[in-house]
Amino acid sequence: MKIDILSRSKNIYSTARMVEEATKAGHLVRVVDPLKCDIKLEKQKPTVYYKGTRLEKPDAIIPRIGASITFYGTAIVRQFEAMHCFTTVSSQSLVRSRDKLQSLQRLSSSGVGMPKTVFTNFGKHTSTILEMVDGPPCIIKVLEGTQGIGVNLAENFESAEAIMEAYNTMESRVIVQEFIKEAGGADLRAFVVGDKVVGAMKRQAQKGEFRSNLHRGGTATKIKLSKDEEYTAIAAAKSLGLGVCGVDLLQSSRGPLVLEVNSSPGLEGIEAATQHNIAKEIIKYIEKST
Ligand code: ADP
Repeated sequence: MKIDILSRSKNIYSTARMVEEATKAGHLVRVVDPLKCDIKLEKQKPTVYYKGTRLEKPDAIIPRIGASITFYGTAIVRQFEAMHCFTTVSSQSLVRSRDKLQSLQRLSSSGVGMPKTVFTNFGKHTSTILEMVDGPPCIIKVLEGTQGIGVNLAENFESAEAIMEAYNTMESRVIVQEFIKEAGGADLRAFVVGDKVVGAMKRQAQKGEFRSNLHRGGTATKIKLSKDEEYTAIAAAKSLGLGVCGVDLLQSSRGPLVLEVNSSPGLEGIEAATQHNIAKEIIKYIEKST
């Protein structure tokens, strides 16, 4: 099979691992930088040009589109879809997953557990908002944040009001969320491929920190998910239409709660923690689906 990985560089760990596993399985694999692609539109005959040359149609693509290039990257994925290439992540689900609020709305409709969440334009009704999320304390999150940046814990009414006011002044959109205290500064990452969880890890925040992001000094260990956690992760991936994704869950007293779903999950942390060949699982999934 011909597989194109849409990635900015072949030196990125996740990209390099998928190249390695696809090659081992006998496939012809190319790393295609989406930003160096042009698309040609006319009556039918959808085409992609790469560095000025017409690209031969691959059988499958693996989009690894970073958040900063979502618009351009998604256009390229759409073009490959028009060429009838299989994709591990559809353009539509990629766009959807990048909109945190829309994703939470879909997750809510699909019936998976999630922390109570409020989206507000911030009038002066802090106490009503806090009541809706059983706070204080509560979490206030910037919608465009990644790696734990812009995720705040407001311990009391005054700090919640001050944080919301500050973001409002900066015209940053925020959500206010129930603080899941019993998660104890940890979250779970379930790596979903197709309709199964192929690896899971628990990330624990540093002492004195509630955010468990590895970028914030969190540590990861392999974990076996409960049936409920596994079911929730798969249901979350399905509700967003993602073939390959990372589902972040909090363990709460009322069961697993989905925090977010990542459509370009990194392989380094999960392969290191689980000692499992996740890249191979992705290639096997493509072989089965095409
Ligand atoms: P990002 O997308 O920037 O990583 P997250 O929403 O995943 O932001 O939040 C970062 C971390 O903060 C999570 O991994 C989790 O450890 C902690 N966290 C986020 N929301 C909550 C919450 N509602 N209750 C408890 N902890 C939370």
